Amino acid sequence: ATLPYDESNIFARILRGELPCKKVYEDDHALAFHDINPQAPQHILVIPKGAYVSWDDFSARAEDAEIAGFVRAVGHVAREAGLVTDGYRLLANIGRESGQEVPHLHVHIFAGRPLGPMLA
Ligand code: 5GP
Repeated sequence: ATLPYDESNIFARILRGELPCKKVYEDDHALAFHDINPQAPQHILVIPKGAYVSWDDFSARAEDAEIAGFVRAVGHVAREAGLVTDGYRLLANIGRESGQEVPHLHVHIFAGRPLGPMLA
């Protein structure tokens, strides 16, 4: 079962402008910014503007236009950052056993070094 959405989570506060971020991209549906603790030379987080706990919540509840907008934003950010040629990795943690820390959906984009096997 999905947790209720907590309006005080750190990414909600970034969306409201209460906390700063190093913004990479923004549109009607998505905001992208640099991870504060990068695990690769490029480590960008892309979040939807709507209040969704996780990919599970988002894929179940979001409008088609929000889903399309968010998916396109993730692709756009990676493409604009020039990550496509050498490749990159997308990752979303969902729930407790995944280690999800922030309960607002975020897709990680990792790039800039060989990323190794998928599960470390
Ligand atoms: P999760 O483990 O939930 O998939 O990933 C949470 C990510 O958010 C981590 O990579 C962590 O470094 C990042 N993070 C946590 N707090 C902040 C913050 O205040 N600003 C930014 N830019 N990233 C954060």
